[in-house]
Amino acid sequence: MNENRGEVVKVSGPLVIARGLTGARMFEMVRVGEANLFGEIIEIKGNDYSIQVYEETEGIGPGQPVIRTGEPLSVELGPGLIKSIYDGVQRPLDALARDFGEYIVRGAERPALDRSKKWNFIPVAKVGDRVEQGDILGTVQESALVVHKIMMPPGKSGIIKKIETVTGNVDTEVAVIEGQEGIFGITMVQRWPVRESRPVKRKVMPTEPMITGQRVIDMLFPIAKGGTACVPGPFGSGKTVVQHQLAKWADAQIVIYVGCGERGNEMTDVLMEFPHLKDPASGEPLMERTVLVANTSNMPVAAREASVFTGIAIAEYFRDMGYSVALMADSTSRWAEAMREISGRLEEMPGEEGYPAYLGSRIANFYERAGSVICLGSDDRSGAITVIGAVSPPGGDFSEPVVQATLRVVKVFWGLDDKLAFSRHFPAVNWLTSYSLYQDMVDECSDCKFDAQWSINRKRAMDILQRESELEELVRLVGIDALPHEDRLLMQAAKMIREDFLHQNAFDERDACTSLDKQFSLLKLILHYFDKVNSSYSDGATLESLTSNDVLNDIARAKLISEEALDQFEALEQKITNTICAITW
Ligand code: ADP
Repeated sequence: MNENRGEVVKVSGPLVIARGLTGARMFEMVRVGEANLFGEIIEIKGNDYSIQVYEETEGIGPGQPVIRTGEPLSVELGPGLIKSIYDGVQRPLDALARDFGEYIVRGAERPALDRSKKWNFIPVAKVGDRVEQGDILGTVQESALVVHKIMMPPGKSGIIKKIETVTGNVDTEVAVIEGQEGIFGITMVQRWPVRESRPVKRKVMPTEPMITGQRVIDMLFPIAKGGTACVPGPFGSGKTVVQHQLAKWADAQIVIYVGCGERGNEMTDVLMEFPHLKDPASGEPLMERTVLVANTSNMPVAAREASVFTGIAIAEYFRDMGYSVALMADSTSRWAEAMREISGRLEEMPGEEGYPAYLGSRIANFYERAGSVICLGSDDRSGAITVIGAVSPPGGDFSEPVVQATLRVVKVFWGLDDKLAFSRHFPAVNWLTSYSLYQDMVDECSDCKFDAQWSINRKRAMDILQRESELEELVRLVGIDALPHEDRLLMQAAKMIREDFLHQNAFDERDACTSLDKQFSLLKLILHYFDKVNSSYSDGATLESLTSNDVLNDIARAKLISEEALDQFEALEQKITNTICAITW
């Protein structure tokens, strides 16, 4: 029997058992059945090979062929990635739709990188240079926003024998290298197995905040470039909106958005909306720096895992060029559910709530590929991947295994709260339960680069919110009127912080993204009011006049002040001072 060919003996949903694939290894890709479906070997027991199939297995039955490819699930990396919309096995959805119609034909295949597209390669290295793995040979202007760097592939080095400006598709040879193993050519494309991390020189501690334009994140629970965050929340609490907001506004050079098995319509939103969005920094379409990996609704659960790893492998490739990459995965719970289903079919010993025992390690494998690094290559450039994963626990229960496994590896937790969402406080990030382990680093960075008051104001705001939650209990028992004046003023300040600062409408273009300057001024304004009313109460003003007056409306509207008119904040501060003075005397 042909060694590269086996046959199906059993089909159970997305899981196919095959025999006769002697020599095949774990995670090798195979093509299953007459329909040529994509599958991956995930268990080998004697002569039985369990294959998770990434496409609907309808019509597959015993006796049909299974063909080895000899290669693990791999991605093609090169110019053309940007602006692409891929499925989990890196098939370009637009090319498939063009050639096969809107419903993807099973087993359909198109190269991930369009071979008909021509790129202009401009060398930066020259003949005679000694180049090592990761060194940049030249560049290609891939999109209006991204300069694609053609690098020496990992494990290759040598002396450049030939390199020149060329125009051609990704398979065009751009350089000839003489290495230890002889003379070889370098093209604009590399292949990489998705489950394996791409090598780096070393990992370093993240030292720079990733600015997201979202006030509750940047001010209270910041994330670092190269950091990891999780956004758990029940259905309707705003996970997807948070992910979209970050994809639009975070100051990353490259954005990879992985929609792993969320409800079909949400991915449609992304697909419809993203091509029309503009990058705030350059005014160019956001897609000029974005890659989308989308699970189409007709792909079975197994494909979710493929999309997560395909996404992170593409992210690593751009990181290796020295870019700061942000990867959003929505939602990792769907991926975990897929693992549970496959594990059940493999009859593995179930762990907590039926999830496989390796759930934690698989999730960790994914998040551990985030980080700030010094890339391969002699110029010691640095790159970063920031990973933000949404988790949708059933019933919003944060003690369930997927949230817990995620929390063990991520450093930022933005816990979305159904009560806040219900009262239309968005983003519904609960300020009492959320945390960021990058806080100290970001404080230090913002104090020194931005304003020395930054961390002081942040801590004051947090203290006010925490004190408010303690007082709420008391208010429920005795009523607000029974509180001493300083607590009533604090309750007012807390309300202002919640409603006038933390509340941010993603759908109002004046409010969707706030610069650090404006965030700082807005919080300072609220704290200024708080300080003024406190001191004027001591000077004899009535509580009533301090808790209801005209400037409160001005403060409530301050978040809509345009980024071009930030000097209005100073005028407003002055107005507060004058108004409170007038009340007091
Ligand atoms: P989830 O993904 O958690 O199910 P969504 O992200 O789809 O929830 O959000 C549900 C709804 O909540 C949205 O359709 C929107 O109306 C509202 N929403 C969420 N976040 C915001 C926000 N920042 N600003 C305004 N509305 C929001």
